[in-house]
Amino acid sequence: MGRELAKEGVSVEAIYYCHHRPEDGCDCCKPASGLFWQEVKEYHIDLGCSYLVGDKLSDLLPAHALGSKAILVITGHGIEHSRLINEQDFKPDHMVPDLYAATQLIVSHSAT
Ligand SMILES: [Zn+2]
Repeated sequence: MGRELAKEGVSVEAIYYCHHRPEDGCDCCKPASGLFWQEVKEYHIDLGCSYLVGDKLSDLLPAHALGSKAILVITGHGIEHSRLINEQDFKPDHMVPDLYAATQLIVSHSAT
């Protein structure tokens, strides 16, 4: 993935992942926020200026607890999850058709 993104001029600082099983009850498996806090500590991330982007509502659940914005992309699982929005307490801040649109939204908000 890093090589493919590099071809487009995108660099990835780090990739975090949980290597536990759901039954392990760790604090890093989404929707827990342990990995996000690790990133914040290591990269001094301003959560108020950050976005979580995903195609599953469960991916985005930590966003509001972290003080960040949640963007649901309507690709992959996002098609199914966008239909579940009205049945959920959690609502993403934005829904966009794909990652490119998410990028455009973030850049436009950063410019203001
Ligand atoms: Zn974990």
